[in-house]
Amino acid sequence: MSRLAVGSIVVFFLTFLGIFLGSSEVAGYAGSDILPTPQPQYNVDRPYVPHLQPPNANNELMVADVVPASAAIITNPVLDMKILVIRSNGTSDEGIYDTATIFLDILGVPYDTLETIASGDTLKESDLSDGVNHGRYYAVFITTSNVWYALSANDKTLLQTYERDYAVRQVTWYAYPSAGDYGLDFTRVVAANNETWCPGTPQGVPFNASLTTTGQSVFHYLHSNVLIPMDGGCLYGYMATPAAGADVTTIINNDSSGETFLAVFRPGDGREQMVMTVGSYYPSIPPGYIHARILPYGIINWATKGLFLGEHHAYFTPQPDDVFSWGDLWNVETHDYILDTGYRNEPSDLVNLVDWMTAFKTNVPNAARFRIEMPFNGDGTEQDRVNDTGPVIANTLTAKAVELEGSFTWLNHTYTHRDLNHVTENIVSDEIYKNTQLAAFLGLTDYAISTLLTGDYSGLNVGAVNPNVANAAYALGVRFMEANASVPEYNNPTPNTGIHHPNQPDILLLPRYANNVYYATTNPEEETDLYNMLYCPGYAANPNTTPLCFDYATIMDAITNQALGFLLDYSVNATMFHMNNFDEYSDGRTLMTDYIEELYGKYNAFYNNSSPILSLRTQEIGQVMLAREAYNASGVTGQLTCGNVITLTTTNAATIPVTGVNYGSNVETYANQPISYLAMSNADTLVIPGETPSIPAGITDLSITRSGGDVLLSWSPTSQDTDNNPLTALAYRVYARANDPYFTPTPDDLLSEVTSNSFTHVGGTGDVDNNYTYVITAIGDNCWKRESVISNRMGEFDYRLQGGTVSDSVLGSLAKAADLKDYISSNTNVAVTIKSLAKWNPVAKLYTYYSTLLIPNGVFSLRLGKTDQLSISATQVARR
Ligand SMILES: [Zn+2]
Repeated sequence: MSRLAVGSIVVFFLTFLGIFLGSSEVAGYAGSDILPTPQPQYNVDRPYVPHLQPPNANNELMVADVVPASAAIITNPVLDMKILVIRSNGTSDEGIYDTATIFLDILGVPYDTLETIASGDTLKESDLSDGVNHGRYYAVFITTSNVWYALSANDKTLLQTYERDYAVRQVTWYAYPSAGDYGLDFTRVVAANNETWCPGTPQGVPFNASLTTTGQSVFHYLHSNVLIPMDGGCLYGYMATPAAGADVTTIINNDSSGETFLAVFRPGDGREQMVMTVGSYYPSIPPGYIHARILPYGIINWATKGLFLGEHHAYFTPQPDDVFSWGDLWNVETHDYILDTGYRNEPSDLVNLVDWMTAFKTNVPNAARFRIEMPFNGDGTEQDRVNDTGPVIANTLTAKAVELEGSFTWLNHTYTHRDLNHVTENIVSDEIYKNTQLAAFLGLTDYAISTLLTGDYSGLNVGAVNPNVANAAYALGVRFMEANASVPEYNNPTPNTGIHHPNQPDILLLPRYANNVYYATTNPEEETDLYNMLYCPGYAANPNTTPLCFDYATIMDAITNQALGFLLDYSVNATMFHMNNFDEYSDGRTLMTDYIEELYGKYNAFYNNSSPILSLRTQEIGQVMLAREAYNASGVTGQLTCGNVITLTTTNAATIPVTGVNYGSNVETYANQPISYLAMSNADTLVIPGETPSIPAGITDLSITRSGGDVLLSWSPTSQDTDNNPLTALAYRVYARANDPYFTPTPDDLLSEVTSNSFTHVGGTGDVDNNYTYVITAIGDNCWKRESVISNRMGEFDYRLQGGTVSDSVLGSLAKAADLKDYISSNTNVAVTIKSLAKWNPVAKLYTYYSTLLIPNGVFSLRLGKTDQLSISATQVARR
């Protein structure tokens, strides 16, 4: 194995271990009372990215796979704001499925998952729509091209027709390039190697992804010139180029080769498909597969056209526990702890921290809303007060804290940090209340009685929760308690939700992240020594002679990579540190601020200034988690009509966040998009108004002519809507009904739907029993697809000639009025005597005769299409 390979594998494992062992508040790394336990979502043994089958002759069309034009246009389509995810019925697309859905879970976007069935049809039309104008999904995700190829021909047609008719976008999260299916030609395989899981020679991995101009708008929250490292254990994929003649827009390309691997393909029938040709594996820890955390938001936003139920923010809240206390310190000489009295902050540490914070918030992008919450133990202040409980003595740590208190949020960490696992309710009350009294005495402005962090999370041991803690806390107004996210039972049950206390459901437990900046370390030397004691093979047995495996930079990189995963997952959980970690070890630097600078630096390497990282107080974190829990239970549905009219319904009360909408009194802008927070009650309906529908202006110049037995209709193309705004027609509908000149068109009267501004009704004339009237409507070429009012009316009448005095054999053989007109026109010497002229009255359904004949005998013209009746007698003068 190469040296490089060894290093990368070791780091990979360590990244996992770092999470499992990340509790920083135990009195010894062996035999601690908080067992290091893996968090479930990271309990994976290998990244799995399937290799995809190339398209074969049966499933790749040589030309773009365009669905035939539909017979009917769906006017006023209504779409449910829900995504359909189609995946395989096995586990072969697991990592891809996770990537495609985890951010739907995180954002709160409703979706359904449909697994393909082994054979036969997976879909039926009613899965997708009501068959009239109501579509059940406004975006479709397909995990892999293998899944697409496994669908039946019926399934594919249903999906393609649905996506076309409802203008629903599709994303294929991992596809083998194919000209027919994705508008892309395969160029080469890219593959990472891993000695254990995917041995072989690396091919073109790692590489950097860069955004095209269109990509910069799709991923508008990233730097326009961002380079995203494409790497990770067993990463696999395909490079591509746009296929000749295909309507393809490259979104992301390989920065060094210029090849495409994320693109939008338009097959030519109105559909739009986004396709990625490199695999993803979400559960991996950054920097491996970091694209699986950075890209999904933009892909979801593209698929939903920037309008979805749910929201996102980046959060980071550091909490250095045990402020004011004395605590343990790691001794790099003895490689062991100095217990209890090893370390306490100096007043200058607080000054340094505030100075650093001021500069950090000013100078670092996305840090303006940075904040530190200080979990404190009041008994530590006693040494800074006259006779323990008297006035605060000048120039002490407590005096400095009072001076700088407004720079921090203060969190009750109990008065003496007492172990609360087996104590009485009175003792717990004392621990909570004395700290609250101290906060009042010191004048800590940003302090809330509603929040609590117990020492070592005591009282919360899974299986042995001390009910006295919840009872005492609840009585004193506590509603939110921090809990250890490293314990599976206390990790978030779903993204950004908490756990209701088993003894007191009105107290919400808020999962808090640990990390491997150890609680007893104050500088890089201590941190490095302790880290190597834990993770460097052979070092713990003989630390004075064994070389370090990991230096400080490597350690901080690994630790902040784990934190970057939480940050990019938009997790609201706070992060635990310890007061030792803000000891000023050198020239303004501390372990905690080194960590924070590196973490923000990694975030800012990708994200532009539109997505600030928010630091919330514990009570605010609790409110976010309660709000999310209520949202998840709200049963909310959204229905979207063109113009972004949204109808929300709920079964249970909640505040519904809607991204992409600016409505109501509670709206913010984040990541360049508005987010509205809409308070809804039980069984509620709310309509968010959108644009006024644009309806084509009615056609006023329908004209009609005859050509032989056919009727020719023509009209001017539609160029405006009813408000005189520019609008063209997607199509025109030609309606005709016989013998009912003032009919109101129904679908039964639809003769044809045409895209040109003329129509030939073949054989439209000649049937004296069916005299047709025609009207035209225009369908707007916009998402409403609304139909105009009907045009002016035009009709054709066929006259049965009455024999009368006609004796001429030719004239007598004419069957209808049109033929008579032609005959007379071409025989100028026909003598005609007009007997009567009448006009058809469609209401009375009879002819009204004119008393005065306006047309002089022998000089007249017959105009077809007029509802006139002319009775004549004619002779052919010349033939006599
Ligand atoms: Zn503590």
